Parts: sequence; structure tokens; C-alpha cells
Amino acid sequence: EEPMIYFITPTYPRREQVAELTRLGQTLMHVPNLHWIVADDNRLCNAMVMELLKKFGIPFTHISSPMPEMYRKASTVPRGVANRRAALHWIQANVKHGVLYFGDDDNTFDLRLFNEIRSTRKVSMFPVGLIGDYGVSSPVIKDGKVIGFYDSWPAKRTFPVDMAGFAVNIDFFLKHPEASMPYKAGYEEDHFLKSLNISLDDIEPKADGCTQVLVWHTQTTKRPAPTVKIHKQSGTSLKE
Ligand code: UDP
Ligand code: MN
Repeated sequence: EEPMIYFITPTYPRREQVAELTRLGQTLMHVPNLHWIVADDNRLCNAMVMELLKKFGIPFTHISSPMPEMYRKASTVPRGVANRRAALHWIQANVKHGVLYFGDDDNTFDLRLFNEIRSTRKVSMFPVGLIGDYGVSSPVIKDGKVIGFYDSWPAKRTFPVDMAGFAVNIDFFLKHPEASMPYKAGYEEDHFLKSLNISLDDIEPKADGCTQVLVWHTQTTKRPAPTVKIHKQSGTSLKE
């Protein structure tokens, strides 16, 4: 039987959220043997998100884990960490086999990506498009092995890759109960991968030896905060 893909999506309330999750959900509807873990950066599971998730017909788990207040105030905020960590804990408590993958709600996925990551035995890696100044971030391959990384922000990282650029086998993940993602903006991937205790030799290059881009780090333009006043109406609690 084909291994199940546990697709972890951190998400948070903002005006673009329903649009992002609709596009992503309608991509995931095409993928067999996939379980969607939607990890809400919220005190409680957002009822609107829950109603949306039910409509896709995709097996899903909706969990909530808000970013601790102290990190929200940091100069560089570790986005989506509390909720990804909660998803990892959920996997540790509920799953035995499969493959886990971090798919942000605003990224773009080629359906061929899922065929690639499903056979991950330890950790697989592949290029991500629209990252940083180089426009792509990718492992560098020689003779079928990862020998380094091409990324415009190395930042002394051992594994300078994007969150969308790797997948992890769950049997392998469960063998590393200490594995964790830090609240350290920019270093989440690197620390998580290091906590799995891997070397370059363990990494399985996918996407035709890392020559194909099957996932893009697309970003939706955020509308700036409104400059118009929202007027107080009688009988409502709207503030001026
Ligand atoms: N995210 C979150 N809480 C936040 C900000 C972002 O859960 O306060 C999620 C977001 O929905 C996305 C992921 O974390 O799935 C990465 O955030 P974003 O896309 O804003 O960051 P990027 O890496 O694109 O700069
Ligand atoms: Mn993003």
C-alpha cells in the first residue's frame, strides 16, 4: 500500500485566509492517500476554517496552537512555528507510518510533487521556486548525491533549504523523539533537520535529481491596513 502523506499547513486568520485555503484545498483534492493537518495559529480552531475544510472531502485534522505572545513581539517573528510544532506532536501521538511535509497555505504545488515525496525513506529534498534573490533554492547534486546547497541566504546554516523543500519519513521521524522546530526565525528548517541527526549522505534527491521545480514559495500581496475610518453606527459596538 502507498504510504500516506501527512501534509502540515500552518495557517492564521487574516483577510486572505479563505482564498489561500480554497486554492490549496482544491489542489489537495487531486491527491490520493493524503491527510491534511491544518494547524491554526489561533487560541481555538476557527469555525469558518473548519466549515471550509469539511467541503473539500479530504481527510483532515484541524488543531489549534497560537504563537506565544512573547514571540509575536519579536523583531523577526517565527511565523507558523507554534502550530507546526503542535502538528508534529499530533503525528507523534497518532501516526505510525507515512511521510510528513510542511506545505504553507500560500505556496503553489505541482501535483507531481506528491508522487516524488511519497517514497521518502528518511529525508528527501528538491528545489523550491521563487525563493530569495536567486529565484530558486535547491540542493546541489553530483553522481546522485547531495554535495551542497544553492541558496541566496546561507546564513551559516548546515541545511540552507526552505520549509517546502524537504519531506520526512514518519517512521524515521518517530525514531527521533527529540526532533523539534525552534522559535528562531530563519533557522526553523535547519534546526529541525539537524534535530533529525542526518548527514548529506542520508538525503534523497527528488524531482529528477533536483532539476525540476515542483513547488513555489508564492506570496500573496497583503493589503495595507485601512486608512479610512470605520464609522461608528448606532446600536453596534464598532469603534470609530
Ligand atoms: N503563519 C502563521 N502565523 C503567523 C504568520 C504566518 O501560522 O502569524 C503561517 C502562514 O499561514 C504560512 C506559514 O506560517 O502557512 C508561513 O508564513 P508566511 O507565508 O507569512 O511566511 P513566508 O515564509 O511566506 O514569508
Ligand atoms: Mn508564505
